[in-house]
Amino acid sequence: ISRSSIQGGWVRFHEDMSTDWHRRHLLINELRQAIGTHQLFLCYQPYHDLKTRRTRGAEALLRWHHPEHGFISPGEFIPLAEDSGVIVPLGEWALREACQQTAKWRQGGQPEFTISVNVSLLQLEDPHFADLVAGILATAHLPPSALELEVTETLALRQSGSIEDNIRRLKALGVSLAIDDFGTGYASFSYLRRFPAEKIKIDKQFLDQVPDNHQDAAIVRMIVAMGHSLGAMVTGEGIENERQLAFLAEIGCDYAQGFHLSKPLEQHAMSRYLSHNAVVVSNGQQTPTTL
Ligand code: C2E
Ligand code: MG
Ligand code: MG
Ligand code: MG
Repeated sequence: ISRSSIQGGWVRFHEDMSTDWHRRHLLINELRQAIGTHQLFLCYQPYHDLKTRRTRGAEALLRWHHPEHGFISPGEFIPLAEDSGVIVPLGEWALREACQQTAKWRQGGQPEFTISVNVSLLQLEDPHFADLVAGILATAHLPPSALELEVTETLALRQSGSIEDNIRRLKALGVSLAIDDFGTGYASFSYLRRFPAEKIKIDKQFLDQVPDNHQDAAIVRMIVAMGHSLGAMVTGEGIENERQLAFLAEIGCDYAQGFHLSKPLEQHAMSRYLSHNAVVVSNGQQTPTTL
């Protein structure tokens, strides 16, 4: 190895590091400023009840259209927002926006439509989070039963009285809790004890190869059975074909979400979607489409 190639390598590494560091800091500041502007918006991905095969609700997913860099994926900006704490105001904005929009859709002819919003553990650590949620629901005139909060195991579990307290108060309020990306974190079972969730969302990676992969199929069956014995509903995430869907229905999974059913839709496309797809409750009862 020549001296120059070592130096070259080091210089390039160094430059990458500083560029990366620079971009991170730039993006974090820009993200902070983007809150509440039209750079940030929500997409909505419907999820289906596997018994009725009809839409039950949707998950709100953040999108960032940067004025110079174009679309920045949540896979890049959500971790930055978590690391910097910007996820707290960002998540609050998403929650408010999703609740206001959901109230409009429910009033516009889909009274059973439910919304799932992703929240960070950093938001749950704020001692006033449950009050914030109650306030947002009241302002939006949305009943707590229309809202579900999805929590992913993204941060190391810290012992925090605030999280337990918020969970207790959110439950008392009537808001549902879902564990997102279940199976990917090393502390999944601790999570189950700590988050008495109404719903468990099985991560896409376990569903990609079902039903052909017998090991994955066994894991998915086990999670569904475990969820049900804990009194929770179970959703399969990232469903991309009919065979996966049929498998989930066959093993008694409750809900499915994925590109095969619908990609995440912008607000107007979601309104159109709702005008053609009646939202139904679990007993198969249909609500009129009068949007
Ligand atoms: P998630 O909550 O697990 O959301 C599911 C992700 O999988 C979404 O990616 C969705 O677009 C994608 N997806 C859904 N169905 C399929 C499928 O059939 N195939 C494939 N390949 N992908 C599918 P997205 O929108 O990029 O979001 C990534 C993650 O960013 C989310 O994962 C969530 O953890 C986080 N996130 C998004 N919005 C928010 C937010 O408002 N707050 C917080 N804290 N996190 C958010
Ligand atoms: Mg989610
Ligand atoms: Mg997920
Ligand atoms: Mg995820």
